[in-house]
Parts: sequence; C-alpha cells; structure tokens
Amino acid sequence: MQAAAGNRPHAALLASPGMGHLIPVLELGKRLVTHHDIAVTIFVVATDAATTKSLLKSCPTANFSIVPLPAVDVSHHVDPSDHIVTKLLVMMRHSIPSLRSAISAMADPPTALIVDIFGTSTFPVADELGMLKYAFDTTTAWFLATTVYGSSAEDEVARHVNSRTPLVVPGCKPVRFEDTLDAYEAMGDRVFDEFQRVGVELATADGILVNTWEEMEGKTLEALRNRKALKDVVRAPVYPVGPLVRPSPPLKTNEPNDVVEWLDGQPDRSVIYVSFGSGGTLPRAQLAELAWGLELSGQRFVWVVRPPPVEDGDVSAAFFSLEEESGSQGPHRYLPEGFLSRTHDRGLVVPMWAPQAEILAHPAVGGFLSHCGWNSTLESLTNGVPMVVWPLYAEQKLNAALLAEELQVAVRPGYNNGGVVKREEIEEMVRRVMVAKEEEGKAMRERVMELKESGERALSRKLKGSSYSALAQVARELELNHQRVVAKARGA
Ligand code: UDP
Repeated sequence: MQAAAGNRPHAALLASPGMGHLIPVLELGKRLVTHHDIAVTIFVVATDAATTKSLLKSCPTANFSIVPLPAVDVSHHVDPSDHIVTKLLVMMRHSIPSLRSAISAMADPPTALIVDIFGTSTFPVADELGMLKYAFDTTTAWFLATTVYGSSAEDEVARHVNSRTPLVVPGCKPVRFEDTLDAYEAMGDRVFDEFQRVGVELATADGILVNTWEEMEGKTLEALRNRKALKDVVRAPVYPVGPLVRPSPPLKTNEPNDVVEWLDGQPDRSVIYVSFGSGGTLPRAQLAELAWGLELSGQRFVWVVRPPPVEDGDVSAAFFSLEEESGSQGPHRYLPEGFLSRTHDRGLVVPMWAPQAEILAHPAVGGFLSHCGWNSTLESLTNGVPMVVWPLYAEQKLNAALLAEELQVAVRPGYNNGGVVKREEIEEMVRRVMVAKEEEGKAMRERVMELKESGERALSRKLKGSSYSALAQVARELELNHQRVVAKARGA
C-alpha cells in the first residue's frame, strides 16, 4: 500500500458497496485533497460488480490512495430475500477486522475516519485507534433527520406505519406514509432493526457531512442545528458539503461513445434520458408500459434498459451484480414487439449501463426520467435538467417528494400502491417536462437553473460558498486533531 504524505492531517474514507456510495465518497476525497490539503486514503468494500471495478480503474490516484478491502462472504449471515439495506449493513460489519488491520498497518496512520452511512458500525475502530469519526450522508438532510429522529422515537414510527399517518420530524417537512423509507415500511422485519441501529450510531459521530447545500434544504438544516427541533437528538454538528457529483466529462474521457455521438446529432434539450440508477430494474409489465409511454410521447429518448428481475418486486436486483448481457440476449427479449424498430429514428436503447454524467451534461438532454437516487438527482440538478421522478427503493420516495413538491423541479406519477404506472400517465409526464413552451415546463426549467447556480455558489472556493466553508471547517477540525496527535507523539 502506498503511504500517504507525512506531515499533514490524514483521513481514512470508507465506501460501502454500490456506485451510489462509492462515487460521492471519491468526490469527497478529491475535494479534501485539492481544496483543503488533507491526505486521503479511500477504503472500498469490494464487490464483483464490473461497473465498480471499471470506476476504480479509471479513477486518478495521483492525489490519494484507494485500498480495496477483501470481499466478504456474508451468505451465512443474511438470507437471499433480505432487504438490500440489511445486506449492506452486514457486509460492512464483517469488514471491520480488515479495516482495523489495514489502518493499523499504515506507516502514516490516519487520524480521522469518514464513513458513508452504511459504515457507522466501524466507528468503534476509530475509537480504539484514537481517530475522529465522521459520517457522510450521501443523500439528503431530510433523510438524515428522519433516520436519526426515527431511531430515537420508535413509538412515533410505529404510529406512522400502523396508522399510515405522517411522521412529524421536528422542524422538517412531515414524511407521508406513502413516501416513507423502505426500512420503516418493513417494520417488524430484520431491516427495520438494522436500520434503527444506524440512526443510533449516527448520533455518536463527531460530525455528519451531507451531500446537500443550504439553498437546497435550508429549513431542514436549520432544524438539525436547532435545540428546539433536532439538535439534541442528532447531537453531532451537521456539515452540508454538496452538491458533490462526478465531474463531466467523466474521469475517463478518451473513449469514443456511441450514446454521446448519437446525442451530438440531436437538437438542444430535445432528448429525455431514462435510467434507474446503478441497480434498479423494472418488472416486465412495467417495462412494457414505459416503452409504450415513451413511444406515445413522441419525444426523443435515451433509455438505459435492464432485464426484468426474476421476482417482480425485486426492483434493486442489479445492485450487486450488474453484468453486461451478451450475444443473443438483449432488450428485444423484454420490450414490446416492434418497439425498437418503430422508435429507432428518435430513440436510443442502451443495455445495462451508460455514461450518465456525460449524458446529463450534453446540451441535447432536456429531461431525466430517474429513480431519483441522490447521485442521479444531483447530476441532473447541477446540469439544469428537470426530472420525472420514479422512486424504486431505499429513501427514493423521500427524494421524489422533495423534488416534486418542495423544489418543484420534477413531476411524479400518482400513488398507485405499487401497481403498474400506465402508458398514458408516462406519456403525459414526459411531455410535461420536455415541452418547455408550456408554462409548467418553463417554470420547472427556471427553478432547476436557480438550483444549479446556487449549488455552484455553495461549492465556490473563490466566493467562500456555504459548502466550501463547511468542508473547510471539517478540515480545520482534522488539522487541530492532527496537531494534538503529533504533540502527544513528541511528548511520549
Ligand atoms: N450510473 C451511470 N450509468 C448508468 C447508471 C448509473 O453512470 O447507466 C451512475 C450515475 O451517474 C450515478 C450512480 O451511478 O452517479 C447511481 O447512483 P444513485 O445514487 O443515483 O443511485 P443508486 O445506484 O445508488 O440507486
């Protein structure tokens, strides 16, 4: 392992499996190094996913080291039917010994540990090794507030779930039952207990970084700081450091790409990009309706498609195991007959995976139909692209409510109790976002541009924006702690 530089603060960052966690952790690492002069080592809990491997390969490591921790076999500790959140949390717990030995073996030991929220079970390693410990919430402040409050108010959560009434998180927009977290909906299952533990562990952090910014979630951030609202529950100071997104063009720019070439030939803002994140899949019947909806909308599109899951409800089926389809396999097997030929002059179907950051930055893209994972959301907003939000799992329904109702930069299907969203509704949503000459589309576009600009201001070093300053404050804490450790070592 490459030792990090010696006489500046050194932070160990830990990313749990999944592109949605790895990408923001890498971006946070880059910022700490380039803007705040912190040495960084990034530990990654390994998965076999081809996309993770290729991202790590394409990531420049001149500024920091990336250390994959050995893959852990948790097959004896989880059931295949367990929720993805349970699987992730168990994997992270079983990575504790390898994290501890990797950190202990470092020539320049880090003095702070920063983990994404699936990694809070590793905090005792930081305590043992005398390190500061921070959590990095790679989604919203609203999710953070709900998670920590929910773990301290189990009766309230029970009422919310059993009577299907809103969960009133002090100082925040109430969480409607229809938008609630997967883990709450599954109250009584293992995932609920596993998730509640995260809320408890988060409250023991020395600080919590969040991939949001003041203008995006000012009211919720205020609640997290206010003793009358959530400060006494969350305890740790909260640092909004976003929007941290993958740069565009992406890390690896030298490969010609068919999608980008196709986009080059389309008019500005004429294409809707359709994708359900790194692991999302749709049941067969829903795939067919989506295809019909896109076709009926008459709009140009790029659609990243994946085969339907074996079990209809398993909408995160591709999370751990996204591999390329080959040979005779392909989208024609699961899309309506004739769809590909009927739409070939205005639509591009991309199997499995596409260079999303680059696509969303392309001038031809005018809308994004997304599962509203937080990375996808930020990539859309920071490019000024309004959305059709179609949440699938985890905290995505919360994100959808924030985007469609609070921020009004997205449209969303009506609640239908997990049923299939029909083609007519899809057609209408796509038109509402894409047809900018209509009042609603125009207003959405203006609001999304305001958010894009406020995000740029928040991150600006020159303007000392709010997110830049929040991360600078974290860096100052790391520096002070580093000085303490150095002084102690000299005195010893
Ligand atoms: N992504 C991509 N190409 C794809 C699908 C996803 O590059 O075809 C990237 C996307 O740009 C985002 C990440 O994978 O950065 C997905 O993270 P997100 O938080 O949106 O969702 P998750 O995959 O965690 O559900």
